[in-house]
Amino acid sequence: MFTDKEISEINHLLIPENNIVIVTHHNPDGDAIGSSLGLKHYLKTKGIDATVITPNDFPKFLKWMPEAKQIVIGEYKRKVAGEAIYNADVIFCLDFNSPTRIGILGDWVTKSRAKKILIDHHQMPEQFDYVYSDTTVPATCQMVYHFIQANQDEKSVNIDIAQCLYTGIMTDTGGFRFRSTSATTHRIVADLIEKGSDPAIITSNTWDTNTISRLHLLSLVLSRIELTKEGKVAILWLKRSELKEYGFDKGDTEGFVNYGLSVLGTKMAVFFMEDLYEDFIKISFRSKDSVDTNQFARKHFNGGGHINASGGKYFKSMEETIEDFKEKIETEDF
Ligand code: 5GP
Ligand code: MN
Repeated sequence: MFTDKEISEINHLLIPENNIVIVTHHNPDGDAIGSSLGLKHYLKTKGIDATVITPNDFPKFLKWMPEAKQIVIGEYKRKVAGEAIYNADVIFCLDFNSPTRIGILGDWVTKSRAKKILIDHHQMPEQFDYVYSDTTVPATCQMVYHFIQANQDEKSVNIDIAQCLYTGIMTDTGGFRFRSTSATTHRIVADLIEKGSDPAIITSNTWDTNTISRLHLLSLVLSRIELTKEGKVAILWLKRSELKEYGFDKGDTEGFVNYGLSVLGTKMAVFFMEDLYEDFIKISFRSKDSVDTNQFARKHFNGGGHINASGGKYFKSMEETIEDFKEKIETEDF
């Protein structure tokens, strides 16, 4: 958490006269959108109208969240996003810790004169004016709640804040399953339910939204799942031509990689997907226990993230990428 002195300085900045911007990472997920909107709704209780900006669009299954429609999507509204960042006095950076993770916004945020406040749970944060970084917390949404607590403002948590923060905690913990899900997480979630977030409605809005294209792609991916490293690593992959053939929509492949990790005996799963427009392969890594995908992604695949969940990019063909991956994973010690 920020120090008391930092909290006091931050609170001096959080006044309606200041322009406050909230940015989150490329390909925003439930935690990115939930923490950004949750913080926006919290700032609203202080009379502040903050602007949430994402580098690119986010999946349909997150658009039900209160005020999701007001989010400025950088790839569609470059000018509005650029001007908001240029005029910002304060920029909250949520659920990422390096300008390289916010695409076209990276340069603008780096050059901005605004005070930059980081709230994030990924490994190895870069330089910001105020840093609240904790890799033991399962979701940035939980950290936003801790920030509200540090301001002694729990009573301000309303249904909008509660719904947004609940969603991000639910998605980033894989439905309260992943390793860093703690008793504290559940206590916070209990409070969010008391403040009006409905678990059944949120689950249904977020997860019972499969499109037929998603299910068909899933069936294809599952039909050819491959094990390597004596069954300890599961490999899944999809090519651009297949995405097109099945009518891929943003978010359709979210969570596919987890199926790899559900295979008995696996310690790591990897999902390779050709980008729809550009010539690279987006990679998702997931692992169990102490198998460190963050280090692996940083070292070999131009990426990073958390120990048990990270991502990266690779600039070769699918066949070469999978071959290179198999070679590199063989020498890893697990
Ligand atoms: P996903 O596989 O869901 O895209 O990403 C899993 C985690 O790794 C997320 O926490 C995300 O922030 C991080 N991540 C994904 N792709 C990259 C990347 O290219 N670089 C870095 N540093 N982190 C990534
Ligand atoms: Mn997160």
